[in-house]
Amino acid sequence: MKTIFEKSKGVDGISLCDSVDEITFMQDSFLRSNKPDLPQLSELEVLRHYKELSDMNFCIEKGFYPLGSCTMKYNPKVNELLASLDGFANLHPCMSDEDVQGALELMYNLQEELKKITGMDAITLQPAAGAHGELTGMMIIKKYFELKGEKRKKVIIPDSAHGTNPASAHLCGFDVIPVASNDKGQVDIDALKLILDKDVAAIMMTNPNTLGIFEENVLEISKLMHENGSLLYYDGANFNAIMGYTNPELMGFDVVHLNLHKTFATPHGGGGPGAGPVAVTEQLREFLPAPYIDFDGEKYYRNYNIKHSIGQVKAFFGNFGVLVRAYAYILMMGNNLKKASENAVLNANYLKEKLKHAYLLPYDEPCMHEFVLSGDWQKENGVSTLNIAKSLMDENTHPPTVYFPLIVHEAMMIEPTESETKERLDDFVKVMLKIADEVKLDPEKFIHAPHTTPVKRIDETLAARKPDLKFKLEK
Ligand SMILES: *Cc1c(COP(=O)(O)O)cnc(C)c1O
Repeated sequence: MKTIFEKSKGVDGISLCDSVDEITFMQDSFLRSNKPDLPQLSELEVLRHYKELSDMNFCIEKGFYPLGSCTMKYNPKVNELLASLDGFANLHPCMSDEDVQGALELMYNLQEELKKITGMDAITLQPAAGAHGELTGMMIIKKYFELKGEKRKKVIIPDSAHGTNPASAHLCGFDVIPVASNDKGQVDIDALKLILDKDVAAIMMTNPNTLGIFEENVLEISKLMHENGSLLYYDGANFNAIMGYTNPELMGFDVVHLNLHKTFATPHGGGGPGAGPVAVTEQLREFLPAPYIDFDGEKYYRNYNIKHSIGQVKAFFGNFGVLVRAYAYILMMGNNLKKASENAVLNANYLKEKLKHAYLLPYDEPCMHEFVLSGDWQKENGVSTLNIAKSLMDENTHPPTVYFPLIVHEAMMIEPTESETKERLDDFVKVMLKIADEVKLDPEKFIHAPHTTPVKRIDETLAARKPDLKFKLEK
């Protein structure tokens, strides 16, 4: 597809005023002498251009989006309406507390709701995403031990963990110690006991873990960790599985991040913006980033008076627009948040049972909100998980998360979310079973998929390694 600069026809798409002489309010030296090199198209052509661009993309409004671990649920459009209200969208972050009481009240109320949902005692809304929340949490844990005069260097992380976990711990200067999973896809307690010593600051866990399996021994693990003087970090990316059923406090965690853009239905993908609030137990309250939003009985204010604060981790308030959307979602759902988790778990188990005869299910356990298949059987016919993922794109279906978690060969991680109807789930089953059949009959077909998308196989590392962000028009 051509860029809008290439499409530019030299017609005047817009005329502001006929001659620069008419501009009297500006000093001559500020006026440009040449016309700016802006693309010029008729209004209709501009609309077509952007419609065409958006058609090249895939989104939840276009089709099934079972991208495991990312919780691509429906983002209610009323949230967009609320976030775009003048009084929210046009606030300036430098306004004084007195002038933004409504926005501060919203953030305060959101803090209270998230504290209830997690069972934690104190919270910051600053971090911009889950990974940023992890970093914030690890900084809190680090400072906690520094203040106690303990030089604990290690952080234990299960081998099924999301890559951001070890990255965050490492960025904070910790040594990452992996712990193996057992044959039920859960942390191997005996392996954990072997590596637990007084040098361990914390364990980072996701529960349900990235296999979609609930860690049944979490209470025993938290007891072990706390008896060792270590803390527990909860990666809340999978919170959509447990809302209202349990919470990290009941499981014995000390620090939690939530991904508002996943569990609390704000649009994501393409890199942001998101929000990764971090909630902590009472003993860690004084380490939170400053400021958090407080209430003195009369007015809401930014509280900077936090004794051992790790400092500010994001400019101003974090991604305020995301906070508005998440708060609207929570208010709208109320007690039905529990129902959302219930349906997310039901949908995942339904798909798992329908697909497990056509694809290898390495951990045949009841799952939570997602499950992981292996493409090993299809690989025997020369068709990899990558090939299957690409061919799903020809079926108006977003591929699942692939090759993660790392402990499953040819992994396909499927998370339908609660938003989908049984008919959509059945359509997906039909497509997956059709693919499994075709792999046996015509494996060649898969090697060059996708066939119907605007771009075919792209180099998956080139954009990251050699970003080319500047368009140059060949004249
Ligand atoms: C998405 C995810 C993260 C990182 O969250 P971002 O908001 O993408 O930074 C961390 N852990 C798990 C398990 C995730 O799924």
